[in-house]
Amino acid sequence: MDEYGNTGEERAVRRDEAVRGAVERGLLGPDAPIVGLLDVTGIRESARELRAAFDAVTAPGTPVLHAFAVKATPLVPVLRLLREEGIGAEVASPGELALARAAGLAPARTVLDSPAKTAAELREALALGIAVNADNPQELDRIDGLMRSAVSRSPLGIRVNPQVGGGSIGATSTATETSKFGVALRDEGAREWVVRAYLERPWLSRLHAHTGSQGIPLSLMVRGVEETYALAEEINRRIGRPQIDTIDIGGGLPVNFASEATTPTYTEYARALKAGVPGLFDGRYGLVTEFGRSLLAKHGTIVARVEYAKSAGGRPVAVTHAGVQVATRTVYVPGSWPLRIAAYDGKGRPKSGPEVVQDVAGPACFAGDLLAEGRALPLLDQGDYAAALDTGAYYFAHHYAYNSLARPGVYGFVPDPQTGGVRFATVREPQTLTSIVAESGGAHVGALTTLHTPESR
Ligand SMILES: *Cc1c(COP(=O)(O)O)cnc(C)c1O
Repeated sequence: MDEYGNTGEERAVRRDEAVRGAVERGLLGPDAPIVGLLDVTGIRESARELRAAFDAVTAPGTPVLHAFAVKATPLVPVLRLLREEGIGAEVASPGELALARAAGLAPARTVLDSPAKTAAELREALALGIAVNADNPQELDRIDGLMRSAVSRSPLGIRVNPQVGGGSIGATSTATETSKFGVALRDEGAREWVVRAYLERPWLSRLHAHTGSQGIPLSLMVRGVEETYALAEEINRRIGRPQIDTIDIGGGLPVNFASEATTPTYTEYARALKAGVPGLFDGRYGLVTEFGRSLLAKHGTIVARVEYAKSAGGRPVAVTHAGVQVATRTVYVPGSWPLRIAAYDGKGRPKSGPEVVQDVAGPACFAGDLLAEGRALPLLDQGDYAAALDTGAYYFAHHYAYNSLARPGVYGFVPDPQTGGVRFATVREPQTLTSIVAESGGAHVGALTTLHTPESR
């Protein structure tokens, strides 16, 4: 174990205390059968580990912006917490930009990447001075137009796809030959087009690539950065001055969903980068990173009450309140996104006892709504709780409104040394039924019955 506690033992202890505290406090119970919990201590530790890992490999004075990929956990209090830890924001939609601004993130600490930015989004970003990475030639045309009409402080770059290949999960592999992101560098004429784009635009000062997310091996991530760095070097050489002053290496550090340990670590990745691409760290380039999952995943837990414990075909089935609405990827693509499940009793204490192979089902009305299938766990009973671990990124913050299931409340927690328990803060209220009706067209109840074709009047 290193100074950051990467075996995760302390995190597991904090989590157990939080589950117990949530039941005691009534944040979780018969009338609040599902919650999301966020470990504030753990989030702070990960943010510090990220900063320390890159500080250790960069030349003194190198500007480094760690921009959290907001899509991983789009919750304003989380963005504010990360801001306090010196982390900026990477946004990819007007909604995410609004969240970052609501959290108080400065434009200079915000980066806009998205494959489908509208003209209005680009105009706003350039007016605010937010960094923008152009995804493709048509987007660069739009930026050209804006740069002719007004001055902007925005650092501007181009996103390239180094086409170094995919990982074990197709949906999160962004550097395949045909990925929809960035300028596909190995396509005929593409590299020359990119070089010319910089030659003709002295204001293009950044280069961006994000080689992929979960499922990409570290070695492939390093290759993606290597290719991007080599291109920056080539461009600066051909221009004859260091026009590209910052390289945005994207995010994508994979998360270990199989056990408590944090692996790989930011330190391992930063060292692998330094070994593979030493020139990137010699002080000639500023750096931007865009980590999402690796900052938050290990610090979130979904806890759901077992409403009924039944048996079907000899298989015990715990019917809980956590399913496809909070664990969409896991339910639809279980082979790629398995989650660890922890069993707690009705008082929120870790459950022991012999392990029994059982299904942990969700509340949605289709047969495949299973959090875990055929999993060996202490037998879950009615009134117990099942926790889906490592769900702080891309899970409970990404509600999927199947069956009009309500978004669960999300609470942050810290240990309370006075009581030995935990303290909670509301991050997001549970969704109300009124809100579900409103979001489902409730204000337009007669809209369709009063819409007639002229003849039918
Ligand atoms: C999703 C995304 C990220 C974050 O990826 P993680 O795997 O969550 O670290 C970073 N940059 C871009 C451009 C992305 O699309």
